[in-house]
Amino acid sequence: MAITYTLHNSLYINLTNRCLMACTYCIKYKWKGKFYGQNLRLSAEPSAQDVIKEIKDPKKFDEIIFCGYGEPLIRLEVLKEVAAWVHSRGGRVRINTSGHANVFHKRNILPELKGLVDAISISLNASSPQQYNRLNRPKKKTNAFKETIAFIAECKKYIPSVTVSAVSLPGVDVATVRTIVKKLGVAFRQRPYLD
Ligand code: SF4
Repeated sequence: MAITYTLHNSLYINLTNRCLMACTYCIKYKWKGKFYGQNLRLSAEPSAQDVIKEIKDPKKFDEIIFCGYGEPLIRLEVLKEVAAWVHSRGGRVRINTSGHANVFHKRNILPELKGLVDAISISLNASSPQQYNRLNRPKKKTNAFKETIAFIAECKKYIPSVTVSAVSLPGVDVATVRTIVKKLGVAFRQRPYLD
């Protein structure tokens, strides 16, 4: 099992396989837990020290990215400990997330990330609540789209770089998603669909 993997000179951290969504386009299912030769299926979730031992020198990478085959913000305390360590060693931290951490933790966790996280990327993919639930299949469907939009707006207060993404999928109205994102005042990124 891999708790870290490299891609484009960044180091990715696979903190958990637990997820708050069951996205229709997720490669975790289609690729059976594999990712370009790495097995991202975890038999046990790593501790902060397990992750730190693997990172070794964060300055060797463009970014240390919490991503993997699960929602990294489920493991908030471990993420914060590793992010603080990365910053203390001069590294840069990014989180890739579904944007449902505040719903999961039942509080606004974003103030806790201030000064620890340099960038966050939130996967939106949809321009309406119906489309959001159909494509992303959040475990808690009620208000899921609205909660994600609120999370994005809140990120701006605490994290210097905020990007919202949409996967190039049939049925995704990328132009409308881009307009919504523009109104929120954050960056937009169209991601390729991996099959
Ligand atoms: S949030 Fe990410 S890991 Fe979870 S189901 Fe969606 S694409 Fe897969």
